[in-house]
Amino acid sequence: MQYCARCLYPANAKPTIIMDEEGICSGCRYHESRKKLEIPWSERREIFEQILDEARRMAKARGNSHDCIVPVSGGKDSHYQVWLLKKKYGMNPLLVTFNHIYNTPAGLRNLSNLVEKSGCDLVRYTAGADAVRRISRYMLETVGDLTWHYHAGIRTFPFQVAVQYNIPLIVWGEHGFAELTGIVTLDDFVEFTKWTRKEHDMRGYEPHQLIGKGGITEGDIRPYIYPSDDDIARVGVRGIYLSNFFPWDAKEHAELMIREWNFGTVTFERERTFNLNAKIEDHANDVHDYLKYLKFGYGRATDDASMEIRHGRMTREEGIEMVRRYDAREPKSLEMYCDFLGITKAEFYAIVERMRDPAIWEKDASGEWYPKDSVINHPIGALEEAARVEQSNDRTLAEANRQLYYNPACPPLKTGEAALDEQSPTFRIL
Ligand SMILES: [Zn+2]
Repeated sequence: MQYCARCLYPANAKPTIIMDEEGICSGCRYHESRKKLEIPWSERREIFEQILDEARRMAKARGNSHDCIVPVSGGKDSHYQVWLLKKKYGMNPLLVTFNHIYNTPAGLRNLSNLVEKSGCDLVRYTAGADAVRRISRYMLETVGDLTWHYHAGIRTFPFQVAVQYNIPLIVWGEHGFAELTGIVTLDDFVEFTKWTRKEHDMRGYEPHQLIGKGGITEGDIRPYIYPSDDDIARVGVRGIYLSNFFPWDAKEHAELMIREWNFGTVTFERERTFNLNAKIEDHANDVHDYLKYLKFGYGRATDDASMEIRHGRMTREEGIEMVRRYDAREPKSLEMYCDFLGITKAEFYAIVERMRDPAIWEKDASGEWYPKDSVINHPIGALEEAARVEQSNDRTLAEANRQLYYNPACPPLKTGEAALDEQSPTFRIL
């Protein structure tokens, strides 16, 4: 397997990445491109301000008290989006949450914190546990994803609310796929479309295709049905990404939100990554991420370490240690999710069997799967040395970052809040 000479992504990473002649991946090149843009950040900010002015004008003309919608989960990005719009730009966003029910106590604590600190109105849709069970199980069996309803819900429900409340602007945070693997450039100014929603977030499935499968009913898929083209056109809905208009540093946002709005990070060692501040609201993330490892041979430690390497806060050597520590680990919550879905662990592994990428997985003589390769096996050569970025004084694993990233040598300080200090064996619906 070829691995990026700079970060730790393998050539079979999803979505597709491309390695250039220097052995550097498209995600690393995208990250670099944020520093040398055709359109500078100052001009981007002006474009952003014009969009907000227009949204305010339209809200006034329509007699709306809300001028935009911010889809929120309660994570650090949600905090930052709302803070920026409300505190910096004086907007009055309507917060919209799709509750996928696989919540951690830390996530519920932070969502409640966000609503309290922002003073904003919130609309929250909670998917029923029976529907979630049916959809999760069916999507696990067909595409190996038990969190399909998350992506479908958070990418659809805000549009339903936009139509219902006649609010034309939806402000998303980061264009995640671009940042990970660089499939678009910043000069594209990508906006949210129905197509990207279906292809990237919903694995090519529109909800009506699910009716009748695995007992899924019409009622089960209601929150995932995108409004009609007529409705979208009548309201004039557009979805923009903040990361097209502002330099995006997730670490900075987490620090700012801890300081400004008491965003809480977790203080226990997570099973699949050293990161203590991202996706901590998502209880199923450990299993979701483990599935990625079982399919493609890499997991969240690769994602998180690659990001730190691109920022120059971690060396390749340090990143590889993270991959060694976390990527292959089976999460304890796997058993609980199997119980919830009504399958055994053996059935879970049987489902995954045919989804294993043969580029990385092989069976040994006794029928056990093993990865043919890992970035751990690759010595650092001339290509990797040439690809290194300038190192920052801000080190991921430094004591100063102990609340943000787990380092066994200086573990995070306990907060006294059980929601942040203790890992919950199960998810919380509300
Ligand atoms: Zn890379």
